Amino acid sequence: MGRAFVYVILGGGVAAGYAALEFVRLGISHGELCIISEETDQIQSFMLHLNECGDYITEILKVAPYERPALSKGFFLPEDPARLPSFHTCVGAHEERLTPKWYREHGIELVLGTKVKSADVRRKTLLTATGETISYKILIIATGARALKIEEFGVRGSDAENVCYLRNLVDASRLVDVMRSCTGGNAVVIGGGYIGMECTAALVKHRIKVTWVFPEKHCMGRLFTPKIAAFYEDYYKSRGVNFIKGTVLTSFENDSGGKVTAVVLKDGRRLPADMVVVGIGIRANTSLFEGQLNIEKGGIKVNGRMQTSNNSVYAVGDVAAFPVKLFGNDIRRLEHVDSARKTAKHAVAAIMVPQKTGDLDYLPFFYSRVFTLSWQFYGDNVGEVAHYGDFSSGRFGAYWVDKGQMVGAFLESGSREEYEVIAEAVRLKVTVKDIIELEREGLEFAMRV
Ligand code: FAD
Ligand code: NDP
Repeated sequence: MGRAFVYVILGGGVAAGYAALEFVRLGISHGELCIISEETDQIQSFMLHLNECGDYITEILKVAPYERPALSKGFFLPEDPARLPSFHTCVGAHEERLTPKWYREHGIELVLGTKVKSADVRRKTLLTATGETISYKILIIATGARALKIEEFGVRGSDAENVCYLRNLVDASRLVDVMRSCTGGNAVVIGGGYIGMECTAALVKHRIKVTWVFPEKHCMGRLFTPKIAAFYEDYYKSRGVNFIKGTVLTSFENDSGGKVTAVVLKDGRRLPADMVVVGIGIRANTSLFEGQLNIEKGGIKVNGRMQTSNNSVYAVGDVAAFPVKLFGNDIRRLEHVDSARKTAKHAVAAIMVPQKTGDLDYLPFFYSRVFTLSWQFYGDNVGEVAHYGDFSSGRFGAYWVDKGQMVGAFLESGSREEYEVIAEAVRLKVTVKDIIELEREGLEFAMRV
């Protein structure tokens, strides 16, 4: 059994949606493009029907590409939460919302709820778990990443019904169910990164008392300076969050039904828990291509046109390790949505209009929104840091300066115009002569650029 397409996108997440829109804009014909994705929508799969024989049948609903960031934000709102189809790609970039109908109307084949088990880049084929061989002329790998499990750090217990991860819609639906059953109770959040930060805020909003545990000295250790982290930690404390830093989880205590009742930490502390959320990082889904394509920094290595070591294969989004011009073509694997959107569009342009498409010139951009707070960061967080503004009122920011040039900029609660100017200052790598003066000038410095 087999089908053939000109273009195949493997993976149906953020990058796949943006790539599909770009293919349509650049003029593909009906039947040329296929997207294969294993994602399903758990909410619907809980709808069990009794068939004539008295068996339960699970209706697994397949899901077209959506804006993954919505899962830890709008999806978790206690009131009027966001649900599909409202956050299908590409609404996150204020572009068209691509519903399953849109793909049908544009003659794009969606092979959903289907895992690709193996890939052969020499033969240009993919083998699905349903036994179908799908062949392509050009492949875009957009397989994203998977959440790391505690078992990978020698701790058991991920399968307990009140231990939650968050990567996809199935996880998010489950987390909502568990949260709703724990109102007034205790949660332990493991991991001090993005998932920890955004899920802690969601749990608090659901009136759950949170203890946030992570190994570093402060939250968001990979990006925040101690001073920036202190602002957010103080805010979280004011919302009742308890912090335990510098230690990790070693085991769970469970009741007779297998539910976790307490979390035991390496420093010996025991925390009673009605639920646990784990966010301890991700691994890019490269395994299908290991030994076939070049791998670097945990991702599939591509050039500035998102082309892998095989000319017919491109990689985009979380799975791609690409040269960032702004950082002297240093190879980076960025785990953020803006990068997924832009690398996807760039790959499609490189495929469809190669003569007009040069190397991607990407400015790394990260952001988050928690409670009433909202920050953006552009560039790289290396070199000396100049903090500015008023940390007590929440109107503050920071610049990173390396070898006399601005390489990174962070701003909390900025306006659109302010975010644009700090981004531009980093893009231009403006010269900084005096870091003390930069600190004093603060936002004005970027405004003058
Ligand atoms: P993904 O969106 O992960 O899509 C990968 C797809 O490939 C999935 O559909 C997967 O099922 C499929 N797939 C993988 N392997 C196979 C296979 N073998 N066969 C078939 N299908 C396969 N970034 C930000 O910048 N800002 C945010 O606020 C933000 N919030 C986030 C919130 C959450 C909860 C999460 C999990 C991530 C968030 N991110 C955020 C990160 C952002 O969502 C990712 O960077 C982005 O989704 C990457 O897009 P992608 O298409 O590369 O991968
Ligand atoms: P992060 O990499 O952001 O953070 C992981 C955290 O877990 C770090 O504090 C890390 O510490 C810690 N950690 C690592 N190993 C252990 C361990 N064994 N026990 C306890 N803690 C550990 O990953 P997340 O899981 O938070 O996020 C997953 C993905 O989702 C990322 O790609 C992220 O970009 C994305 N995301 C992005 C959002 C955004 O951009 N706003 C929002 C939500 C998710 P250490 O650094 O010391 O290893």
